[in-house]
Amino acid sequence: MKVDFRSIQDLLQSMQPQLPVYCVYPHAYHDAAQHFVAGFPGRVLYAIKANDNPSVIKALHDGGITHFDCASLPEIQLVSNLCPGATCYLMNPVRLEQQARLAQRKYGVRHFMIDHLSGIAPLLSEIDAQRSVVFARMAVSHDSAMADLSSKFGAPPEEMPELLMAIKDAGAEPALAFNVGTGVTSAEAYTYSLSQARKVLEQLPFAIRLLDIGGGFPRPYPGFRVPPLDEFFAAIKGIRHELPFPDDGELLAEPGRALSAPGMSTLTRVLLRKGDRLYLNDGMYGAFWELRFKGHLRYPARTYRGPGPLDGEAMPFRLFGPTCDSSDEMPAAVHLPADIDVGDYIEFGTMGAYSLSGRTRFNGFYSENVVTIGSEDYLPPAW
Ligand SMILES: *Cc1c(COP(=O)(O)O)cnc(C)c1O
Repeated sequence: MKVDFRSIQDLLQSMQPQLPVYCVYPHAYHDAAQHFVAGFPGRVLYAIKANDNPSVIKALHDGGITHFDCASLPEIQLVSNLCPGATCYLMNPVRLEQQARLAQRKYGVRHFMIDHLSGIAPLLSEIDAQRSVVFARMAVSHDSAMADLSSKFGAPPEEMPELLMAIKDAGAEPALAFNVGTGVTSAEAYTYSLSQARKVLEQLPFAIRLLDIGGGFPRPYPGFRVPPLDEFFAAIKGIRHELPFPDDGELLAEPGRALSAPGMSTLTRVLLRKGDRLYLNDGMYGAFWELRFKGHLRYPARTYRGPGPLDGEAMPFRLFGPTCDSSDEMPAAVHLPADIDVGDYIEFGTMGAYSLSGRTRFNGFYSENVVTIGSEDYLPPAW
């Protein structure tokens, strides 16, 4: 992949950017994709809502991701245009009318999702049941997730046999799905949910070939320690053999954060310093919005003055975004060189997940600057 800059230093030398710059390190995405695909015992779908930037999608595709978990037609269009030959799944129980039809006709989508009996007829009126797989989503949740994603979608386990049978009766291939949450901190969340799924599968008079265990695989952040992904893979491999799968049975996973977090940083500039308070050109209404939610409170940081690194004795700073809202303050102090000042730059790493997607134009602060960086010297997750 051709990159825009060799390094952050290169970027600073030629841009001296006023607005935040989102720096994509294709190397990191390549590694993340390869590692996940090699370790997970099944099919890996990238949940593109975590970061739908074209450079990110392409880098993950280059690294071996060929399946994409999409929630809308625009997401499917985006992936199909960027990665010809990739397989898109429309995995949202809620869709605009006609999107399932277009997804299938125009983009060959074959995998869909429902989580209620009332969802079956509208979906099947738009698609060809014979060539479609319809996942029924089961509600599961586990205390170890940063956010519980089962309060909105998913049917209780006891309703699953009825849902799966209704899908089969409608002529489509029934499949089972769940999603434990996001930023899951213990592999037990998956083994517990898989045991729930197993109970459902055992009640069915037919075999289910595909079991989608969703996303939620974590990445570490400063102050937010999580077990390595390999621990999750090992636990899932351990229980996979106990599932009543046919010979061609397959697990699927939909990682968003685990694939997107490690390879992007946000390069911000200091606009104002008042003692231990720094005002930056990006904040809680911009790329840092995810810090509003339970989970990590900070990102790893390193500092630059001019194009070179800024080092020196550190002290804790409170960090504010540029908008007029007083809640536009990062939830935790960050240690930075004590003499940092206006015009210096701070690079925040591990920011690929839930940052670009979901920021706002509140108060007129918004940056379109996304660049690729060739260096392999990206900020390690927990610095
Ligand atoms: C958000 C979401 C994902 C991705 O979640 P991560 O925590 O980023 O891995 C996967 N599947 C579904 C259904 C989701 O809603």
